[in-house]
Formats: sequence, structure tokens, C-alpha cells
Amino acid sequence: MERDDRFSKENLKRLVEGTLHWEEVKKAIRLSPKDSDRFWKYLEVLQEKVPWDDKILLRISDHLYIVAKDGGRITKCDCGHEFGDYRVNWKLGCQVYVRKTSEEIGEVVTIPEARHNIELVEMREFYCPGCYALLGVEVVPPGYPPVFEMIPDLDSFYREWMGQPLPDESPDWFQDKTLDKPAEWAKEG
Ligand SMILES: [Zn+2]
Repeated sequence: MERDDRFSKENLKRLVEGTLHWEEVKKAIRLSPKDSDRFWKYLEVLQEKVPWDDKILLRISDHLYIVAKDGGRITKCDCGHEFGDYRVNWKLGCQVYVRKTSEEIGEVVTIPEARHNIELVEMREFYCPGCYALLGVEVVPPGYPPVFEMIPDLDSFYREWMGQPLPDESPDWFQDKTLDKPAEWAKEG
């Protein structure tokens, strides 16, 4: 693919790291037409920052990536911990800390008025078992299933938006498989 360096990879790297000057950020936002290879440069920048080689398909949060590995597409933390099939909510593979009491919530929400009603909801923190980074927080009624924040349609994204279909395209990829996991646990038990 032809390089389009009107917004350079070096600047993109600074943008990802949060050190790009605001004037440069504005230029990048206003660039018209946009540099056609921005997403590919972005992937290169991400790939160079992680300590492993599995091909990044998409970054889904500060620490988490969907990567291609051994014919699958899995969720992986930048520390290297793997959560398995990306169609299963990665939260099921986390260490979870639940805050239920006012004291426990007071440790993280310092303004009393901002605390939620502990009779209705609890606060769950999801930690990576590999590096103990905080990967997600949700405030939901007790017993509510972990919220699946994002299941991207990778094939449509790559084919229709980026014009470069993934080699293993299949309708199977765009499905929430989270409920398969408890079913597997039940079988194992
Ligand atoms: Zn991790």
C-alpha cells in the first residue's frame, strides 16, 4: 500500500501515547481528505508497542486487543495474558472485585453525592489475571450478567470500511458466544 505521510507515523505514535501537541492533533482531525493509510499506520504503532507478535486486528481498550492466533481471533492483554475467543466476554476470565458497602465504594468514589444507591446496584472491577491492570468497571444490579462492552463486526469493518477483507472471513465471527462458556463449565463440573 502507498504511504500517505501527510500525518506521519511518528505523530500517530505520539497521539497514541498522549504526547502529541494539541495543534498537531487538530491538524490531524481536520486533514482533508484524511491520510488513506491512517488505520494501518495505527496498527503498526500498536504492534510495535506490545511485547508479543500475534497480529493485532483491533484495539478495544487501553490494555486489550483482538489478535489473530492459531486460526482464531482472541482477546489479549498487552501483558500477554490471553482471554480466549473474542466472541466470549473477556470479563469472564478476569479477577473480579465487587464493592457493595458504602465504605468499599467510598474508597474509589470520594464525593458522597456521586455514590450510587447500594440497595440497588453494586460496583464490579475487572482485573487482568496476568498483570492486575484494571480492565473495566461496571455498576449494575447484583446478579446482572457481566456487560459485554464490545463485540465488533471485524469482517465488515475490514472489508467495507478498510477495503481489505481479513483472510479468514466468515459469518461465524460476528456472534456473541459468551453463553457457551458457562455451558462448558457446567459440562466440566
Ligand atoms: Zn494483563
